[in-house]
Amino acid sequence: MAERIAVVPGDGIGREVVPVGVDVLDAVGAFEFVECAAGDAVAASTGDPLPDETREAVLDADATLFGAAGETAADVVIPLRRALDSFVNVRPARASPGVDALQPDTDLVILRENTEGVYAGIESEIADGVATCTRVVTERASRRLAEFACDYVAERGEAAFTLAHKSNVMRVTDGLWLDAVEAVAADRGVDAEPELMDALAMNLAMSPESYDVVVAPNLAGDVLSDLAAGLVGGLGLLPSANIGSGGGLFEPVHGTAPDIAGQGVANPLATVLSAAMLLGFLGHEAAAADVRAAVEAVLADGPLTPDLGGDATTTAVGGAVLDRLA
Ligand code: ATP
Repeated sequence: MAERIAVVPGDGIGREVVPVGVDVLDAVGAFEFVECAAGDAVAASTGDPLPDETREAVLDADATLFGAAGETAADVVIPLRRALDSFVNVRPARASPGVDALQPDTDLVILRENTEGVYAGIESEIADGVATCTRVVTERASRRLAEFACDYVAERGEAAFTLAHKSNVMRVTDGLWLDAVEAVAADRGVDAEPELMDALAMNLAMSPESYDVVVAPNLAGDVLSDLAAGLVGGLGLLPSANIGSGGGLFEPVHGTAPDIAGQGVANPLATVLSAAMLLGFLGHEAAAADVRAAVEAVLADGPLTPDLGGDATTTAVGGAVLDRLA
């Protein structure tokens, strides 16, 4: 039976780039696609940004390809990640030879904690003009991410990762994070190299070639991966994978990009590379490699969207990827 892929384009440029990802998946495999609504548009018409049918389709699918959600993002992707128990967000950032990148030697992966930290959603206004946010760090989530990180570096034939933290200031929460991750790494014979996240941001900008796998708390991982996107050519190129016990949800790192939505010029390659990660997750390694090679070829020879200095449309770039795969 064909593997089932839930397709959730969402809002903004998600609706433009996800169809390209679907075409690419369709070109390299025999999948059943189930298109689902989520985000601002469906919230406007039904009052619910994440309809039950969408949640169920995502939970039933073998994997999900997601675009982006706008104002309702916190009510869409965060509940979906929770429903899938996606405890890690894998965000590779690699400069391609064809792209005029700020840091052409960048080739790193950020493993972002995906369930807690300040994104746990516990915020309150405790008095007029005074708001608080509760940061959640658990030993369980920290250890689970650490186990994943140890497996991940081992698969890459390495024995170390960088561990982002700020335990000199957030002594209790990041103290727990640091201790838990370091304990797992020590047990597994992996070298966890702690680095203060602010210094890490500067060092990543100046010498990204010194980094390979970076394990980061939720907010830090989010910020550092946008920084990494800037080093390799922008958000139009960064894919991601949300992995957990309930399955995998694959999405570009970028959001809805309201400034360019509807113009047909969004770069679809972050979504195509997310589709390649989806293929790898489902065990279709050869197809995933073919898709990555097609993207590399398009980046080298064009056409390119305006974010990369070209003047091509989203569909033209998608068509070029499909031509390379044909
Ligand atoms: P969110 O809060 O959902 O992340 P945002 O507007 O803050 O949304 P993005 O949507 O990621 O952030 O956009 C940030 C910038 O990067 C915008 O200028 C946008 O046009 C650009 N950008 C993002 N994705 C792409 C893409 N696929 N192609 C071209 N430009 C992009």
